[in-house]
Amino acid sequence: MLYSSTRSASGPFVQSADAIKRGLAPDGGLYMPAEIPRINEDELEELARLPYPERAARILGKYLTDYTEEELLADCREAYGEERFPGGAAPLSDIDGNTVALELWHGPTCAFKDMALQIMPRLLSRALRKTGETKTALILVATSGDTGKAALEGYRDVPQTKIQVFYPADGVSRVQKLQMATQTGNNVNVTAIRGNFDDAQTGVKRIFSDQAIREKLGQAGVILSSANSINWGRLAPQIAYYVSAYCDMVTSSRIGMGDVVDVTVPTGNFGNIFAAYLAKKMGVPFGRLICASNRNDVLTEFFACGVYDRNRSFHTTMSPSMDILISSNLERLLFVKFGARRCKALMDQLASTGTYALTHEELTAIRADFVGYSADEEKTGEAIRLAWEAGYLADPHTAVGYAAIRADRNARDRSQKILLASTASPYKFAANVFRCLSGKEAASDLLALRELSALTSTPIPVPLQGIGERTVRFTGTVAPAEMPARVLEFAGL
Ligand SMILES: *Cc1c(COP(=O)(O)O)cnc(C)c1O
Repeated sequence: MLYSSTRSASGPFVQSADAIKRGLAPDGGLYMPAEIPRINEDELEELARLPYPERAARILGKYLTDYTEEELLADCREAYGEERFPGGAAPLSDIDGNTVALELWHGPTCAFKDMALQIMPRLLSRALRKTGETKTALILVATSGDTGKAALEGYRDVPQTKIQVFYPADGVSRVQKLQMATQTGNNVNVTAIRGNFDDAQTGVKRIFSDQAIREKLGQAGVILSSANSINWGRLAPQIAYYVSAYCDMVTSSRIGMGDVVDVTVPTGNFGNIFAAYLAKKMGVPFGRLICASNRNDVLTEFFACGVYDRNRSFHTTMSPSMDILISSNLERLLFVKFGARRCKALMDQLASTGTYALTHEELTAIRADFVGYSADEEKTGEAIRLAWEAGYLADPHTAVGYAAIRADRNARDRSQKILLASTASPYKFAANVFRCLSGKEAASDLLALRELSALTSTPIPVPLQGIGERTVRFTGTVAPAEMPARVLEFAGL
């Protein structure tokens, strides 16, 4: 399978190992496979009999054809085995009669990013060998919380890689800060910066485009690489759990083979829901894809009227991983639906004006698969309470998805089976969940974990237990201007 940029379908083409190593195509577009492989009912039945790591290896094998079956199986067994995902990688759990949660947060950091970031470092490490790269890849990450910890945990002690994470000192929760500052591993570095997430992100982008730094690093045997969600190595593994979820719905007799299931995904950068779309394109019987947004509703407007407009105010919410104005992976959908030329024109427009509009026909084509809903903070809180009344403890992101389902049910068929991507453990956002359920403030961010556990009689997930007692390895805060120096220092210069 060959890959090309979303902005030029006529090449240059690269193998998947190259696409994973580079992250972004040279013309600024995102890598996409030349075709979308198929999966039929016989194969779904066959996959249904396999454990998750084997299912994932089979799906990845359809896309990453320059990796051998043995390589993918070995990587998937390590990434998704009992050690890292005790009790299974992507289990189902019923919320109400027709809503089934696909729980993607049973990994080491309790957020769905683990599903991609446990396997991607292994794929990158192999990609370096496959492409004859002898240098060490230094992964630079700017994070507002979840991605940083998941990337640290994924890249920790992976050969031929180092990882350095920058986060805004006052822009992440106390739990998130502790998760990162106590990170173990010999190839990791965590640095807090004085500033907000944009300052961290801008600083990282500057380093990536600084020729002088790249040269210095190159001479020291280091190349820069990124772990963000536009990398194909992060997207491809996400397709597998949607295929797997359908298999599990069949084997648990929630549906019969061939029955259509709608999918709801709490969405930020559009990576997770795009993976569901690809599973549908492959042949999994998915119906509508329901894109759930919080108060940052740029996608809701896009699916309603075909206008993408990032010129709007940014809202901070209790579902911070969805506080986004530019959903980068939407570019991949534009490419699949309308081709590279139109995709490039729309992206150029977005870059110069911050907005673009689809034609009426284009919007119809998009609405054949997608519908969008948004929930403000109040509706999100209500959804947390309603899900809990039904017996399901949802984190604020998942609750935004549940709110979308409730809005959709009011508008349409109530008996439709809907799969909801449950994207984080409620304990990662314990203070907010506790407040929504009890009407009281938790004594502190950290104590909220125990208070939520006592209130709901549910256990604190093992990776978050005793987080306040772990050894803090990374302290101190630097100004954004010091970021390049920190990178060189970490690279040994
Ligand atoms: C990253 C994240 C999302 C958004 O996923 P995208 O792929 O960026 O759309 C939703 N929920 C949680 C908990 C996340 O960490």
